Amino acid sequence: MPMIHILSAPPFSKADEVVKGRWYPEQPPALPDETLQQYTDRCAGAQGPSKYPYDHWRWRQCGIGWHGDCSFGLYGPVEQEENPCACPCHETPQGRAVLAAARARWAKR
Ligand SMILES: [Zn+2]
Ligand SMILES: [Zn+2]
Repeated sequence: MPMIHILSAPPFSKADEVVKGRWYPEQPPALPDETLQQYTDRCAGAQGPSKYPYDHWRWRQCGIGWHGDCSFGLYGPVEQEENPCACPCHETPQGRAVLAAARARWAKR
């Protein structure tokens, strides 16, 4: 699965506005003059709903583009999660395979 590391290559935008969207597999663009830390915080939801770049809720790891590290679904049935990560990566066959493999690893502990 291709990992997108925003720490090394955030896509930058010249538009000074937050464009909410699906943003997968691409990451949302950083705002002008936004530091990497601010960008990461914003993608993780730390700057509030108006600055949040996604039109759906994501858990932190998916929010910052580390989809392979998202723990959604690892500790129980995804249906039972109170606040599920709605990142599109979990809806792809590849994403479901990642979850299944992670669950299997967890079950063996
Ligand atoms: Zn996720
Ligand atoms: Zn994701």
